[in-house]
Amino acid sequence: MMLDTKTRPTAPTGRDESLARAIVQLNPKSARAKRVVALVTVGIPAIGFAVGAYMMVAGTVTMLDYTLFAVFYAIQMFGVSIGFHRYLAHKAFKTSPFFEGVLMIAGSMALEGPILFWVSTHRRHHRYSDEEGDPHSPNLSGAGLMGKLKGLWYAHVPWMFSDQETRVAVFAPDVVRDRRLYYYNRTYPLWALASLLLPALLGFAIGGTLTAAFSGFIFGGLARVFVANQAAWCVGSVSHMIGSRPFATKDDSANNWPVAILTFGEGLQNNHHAFPGAYRHAMRWWEPDLSGWVIALLAKAGIVWDLKMPDRNRINSRLRRNRTR
Ligand SMILES: [Zn+2]
Ligand SMILES: [Zn+2]
Repeated sequence: MMLDTKTRPTAPTGRDESLARAIVQLNPKSARAKRVVALVTVGIPAIGFAVGAYMMVAGTVTMLDYTLFAVFYAIQMFGVSIGFHRYLAHKAFKTSPFFEGVLMIAGSMALEGPILFWVSTHRRHHRYSDEEGDPHSPNLSGAGLMGKLKGLWYAHVPWMFSDQETRVAVFAPDVVRDRRLYYYNRTYPLWALASLLLPALLGFAIGGTLTAAFSGFIFGGLARVFVANQAAWCVGSVSHMIGSRPFATKDDSANNWPVAILTFGEGLQNNHHAFPGAYRHAMRWWEPDLSGWVIALLAKAGIVWDLKMPDRNRINSRLRRNRTR
């Protein structure tokens, strides 16, 4: 979704109306239900991570556990980065219904919520980035070091517990209308469950014992979800505060390399907010963007097509050299 900054409301009333259209204030019952879901989503993988850490200290972890961790980390991260984000939220390329399904299922395995929630939250983030209305900005929690730390924490986890919800009819009517996409939204609990049970099944099938099934469940399932989502949430928190800003944008988005490496390119937020519709987040060849490279390979294999990318002149014309904030 390309952000047209000219259409941003400037008058207070226009802005209030825009926010009222964009955001739903939940009633106490729905707000409580939302907090319970958020608590389960954040809390259970955290417990799994603690168990995994204990197993590492106790020396019971096997090569199979680490392999399951790596494989399911990659499935989840590519699913969100290539599928939910670049394909669905920004329409950066096209693909077949089959591969669309692969991407939607892989993304659902991240336990970051069903596609409708993910896409509408993310498009709202682009519309209001680092202004009132942004669901997860680290820059709206006051000045000074304390304000920054509070903001970083809020944008990392507590934003999921807010009593507001993004209006899907405003931000994701395309997903609501599309029967195929809506199917993946409706069946989200199934893919979330598969995301935790598949590593356990594979652990049992390859390791041959119930112990291998359990540690597969912990490492390939819960601990993997915990670690991958810590990295993913850094995109909204750290990458909107710390890093380089080669492009002038209306927000505080920054290119943070450690986050970009862990999230397969998503941490290049400044590049992405400058060119939201681009399939690549790397605007220069040396920037780490594993998802961008994989999409290019998939295009060579004919699995995806119509890749959107601004031309070199447009990118260069927006580069501001030698300026940091
Ligand atoms: Zn952002
Ligand atoms: Zn985006």
